[in-house]
Amino acid sequence: MLTIKCSGCKCKLWKYKKIGPGKVLRCHKSRISKRFDIMERDGMLFCPCGRSIATDMGRFYKMHVDAFTYTGTKDAA
Ligand SMILES: [Zn+2]
Repeated sequence: MLTIKCSGCKCKLWKYKKIGPGKVLRCHKSRISKRFDIMERDGMLFCPCGRSIATDMGRFYKMHVDAFTYTGTKDAA
């Protein structure tokens, strides 16, 4: 399980079950298990500090490069 965090203020955004060793380019909504204080506006997700983190693409969020960091471990594919 990964904890996705804002790269600006380090605030926790959500928990995500990442499968496989690749980069976190998108987050599938069905694998997000917990959401912290995130805001949705104009089809995008924002950290409370105002940084845009991801774009809502329907079944998944397309992550904005450099807008986030994460801790935790990726699951085996
Ligand atoms: Zn932030």
